[in-house]
Parts: sequence; C-alpha cells; structure tokens
Amino acid sequence: CGIIGILGAKPVQPLLLDALRRLEYRGYDSAGMATLVDGRIERRRAEGKISRLAELLERQPLAGTVGIGHTRWATHGRPNEINAHPHAGERVAVVHNGIIENFRELREELEAAGYLFETETDTEAVVHLIDSYLARQMGPEQAVAAVLGRLEGAFALAIIFAGRHDVMIGARRGSPLAVGYGEGEMFLGSDALALAPLTSRICYLEEGDWAVLDGTTARIFDRDNNPVERPVTQTALSG
Ligand code: GLU
Repeated sequence: CGIIGILGAKPVQPLLLDALRRLEYRGYDSAGMATLVDGRIERRRAEGKISRLAELLERQPLAGTVGIGHTRWATHGRPNEINAHPHAGERVAVVHNGIIENFRELREELEAAGYLFETETDTEAVVHLIDSYLARQMGPEQAVAAVLGRLEGAFALAIIFAGRHDVMIGARRGSPLAVGYGEGEMFLGSDALALAPLTSRICYLEEGDWAVLDGTTARIFDRDNNPVERPVTQTALSG
C-alpha cells in the first residue's frame, strides 16, 4: 500500500518510520521495515498502527543506513505480523504494493525447488524467485531483470540485498513509484509525500520502468530493459 526505500549514509530507522507515518493516510493494516545490519537483513514488523511498530523499534532498534519500509493493505493473507512486509530470505528483502497474479504457479515451482514458504502472501514468491536467481550467481540487477520478466499483475517493488550497501532496486507496473535524489543518498517512494522531507528532486517512474539505485544516482530501464532517461522534477512539497 505504501513504500519507502532509503539507500543512505545515516541511520535510516527514524527516517523510515517518519515516512511510514506520512503514508498512514492511505489506510493500512500492518507495517514493517528491513535494514542491512553488518550486511545482514534484519526486520521489524507489527500488526496494526505505526505506533505499534514504533513501540517494537523502541524495544528492539534497527541499525543500518540502507532500508525499506511498508504499510500493508492485505490482499493475500490475513493482516498479521507474519504476513506483514518486508518479506525476506537470507539474500534479499522486498516490499510490494499490488498483486502478483501468477503467484500460485511461482509458489508451486519454488516449493518444488525446495523453498519453504512461511506466509500466505503473493509477495513471498517474489522473494524466493529473486533468491533462486541470486543463488545461480546472478547479480542483483540481472536477477531482478529475470524476475520482472516472470511476474504478472500490478505492482510496485522496492528491493535490498544482503551484503550490498551500494544497491537498491525499484520497479513499477500498475502501481506508482518514484525515485528521490539526495546528497549522497537515494530514495524510493510510492508517492511524493513519502519522499517530501527527504528530497525535493523526484523522478516518477513510468509504467513498466525499473530503477537501479546506487549511493548517488539511478539507472532507469523500461519494460524491455532498455536504458531510458526520465525527467527529474523539483517538487514544492519539501520543507
Ligand atoms: N498483495 C500484497 C499483500 O497482500 C501487497 C498488498 C499491499 O499493496 O499492501 O501482502
């Protein structure tokens, strides 16, 4: 329902939490975030209000300068902590808006390959599918390109990778997603409000686009994986 991603240089937990609060207006049933801590993916998730997630983070803070956050409006799987995003394995963490229409086929294929599913969500298939390509020695960019070619439905995704503080990938098909340009940090957000206090330089991805962020810029590709240029606009929202 709402997405925020930060590839940063300072602790991201408070920034992710603030962004999730700005996304509250959309309505949601649970929320969560994942960061890289010494290269490993760590998560905190809670059913209910952002304040529940905030309480959890007070008891168990998340370090890290790279992270993704999500407010969920459940479509597949009950609204509870297990089904709350981010979904993650050892190599990759994903937040997702929308619906993966062919998740059942993907799930069957991945279960046959030995993946154990712990949630009822459509999103978890994306995690294991990316993992299956990373396990075949593909890099993040190659793996995501391969996965996007196999997903049906409407979605926006933000993805981080264990051991990779230098990359975050976003994709949009049917759900909006924007790239934010900071000073030595980069952002993904499902709307301009999510990004507003973080940066005023925003690039709205176009339908089918996906973006590979590093610490300073983004390379954007269209649905056929051709590199494309998209305009960066200066928003008035920042302040
Ligand atoms: N289909 C996903 C789920 O049910 C994402 C829902 C959303 O857009 O928040 O977990």
